[in-house]
Amino acid sequence: MKRHLISAADLTRDDAVLILDTAEEMARVADRPIKKLPTLRGRTVVNLFFEDSTRTRISFEAAAKRLSADVINFSAKGSSVSKGESLKDTALTLEAMGADAVVIRHHDSGAPHRLATSGWIGGSVVNAGDGTHEHPTQALLDAFTMRRRLVGVDAGLGHDLAGRRITIVGDILHSRVARSNVHLLHTLGAEVTLVAPPTLVPIGVERWPCEVSYDLDAVLAKSDAVMMLRVQRERMNAAFFPTEREYARRYGLNGDRMARMPEHAIVMHPGPMNRGMEITAEVADSPRCTAVEQVANGVSIRMAVLYLLLGGNEPAVTAGNGTSTRTEESK
Ligand code: ASP
Repeated sequence: MKRHLISAADLTRDDAVLILDTAEEMARVADRPIKKLPTLRGRTVVNLFFEDSTRTRISFEAAAKRLSADVINFSAKGSSVSKGESLKDTALTLEAMGADAVVIRHHDSGAPHRLATSGWIGGSVVNAGDGTHEHPTQALLDAFTMRRRLVGVDAGLGHDLAGRRITIVGDILHSRVARSNVHLLHTLGAEVTLVAPPTLVPIGVERWPCEVSYDLDAVLAKSDAVMMLRVQRERMNAAFFPTEREYARRYGLNGDRMARMPEHAIVMHPGPMNRGMEITAEVADSPRCTAVEQVANGVSIRMAVLYLLLGGNEPAVTAGNGTSTRTEESK
């Protein structure tokens, strides 16, 4: 593994499987009466959020705390950033406080890369979503959820999603979730199809390792998982579709459409959901929708990422009898 996690495209298959397998071990800790591990005791993780977040920020905080790290939450609102302080000066402040890892969400694509390559900070940088670019831990938790639901935990560790057919639907143009998922799912051997109105398909998509379709009904029956994306109004500076009703009619997932999916197929959504737009309440609340499960899995994935990047001094998880379930070498 590299020292930073900036893009899902940087992960080799071995890296990705190591993170997924480590997250499986972390998930088992959540079933114990005491959910905390001493692994990152004495380390400091800073959550540096320049853009709104509910799930991702809380999830990183819970992950770091379960590993016993000290957590500092920094939100741009109410900080000196609103007085015009630059990313550099903010980073130098964090460095002075001894941050071992900086988890950054930023409205500008490329901000985490800048932080990681600038030399302003010495610790690891984790991209928690940058503009329309990438959101690698979301893709990892999505792959983790798919692996558990479609391959099965009992299949054992090390399994990937080879041959699974994943359909990603909606506002691909503005979605960092879609970009990260396309890269990671391709690395894991899955076949990805993007479905969107032509106006919400990015230029250059033909170079992405996936298929593109404009007809949701044509791909539903061939999908093992259908991932619905939020229509990202805050990033839209033009009219990308005629009306919300028209969008929902052509690209929204409702009960009728869900019934056309194979019986084992799941519906995913990274949240926040626009109920009634890309997904109806009936689908969002159905047992086939994994949105809430994805949130729970996010904590295990982020524990695994922080553990692997910060190279905890002790094995990640010890079994009840005190023996390590992973060797020092396998770190
Ligand atoms: N929560 C995800 C993100 O931050 C998806 C979304 O906002 O629609 O990218």
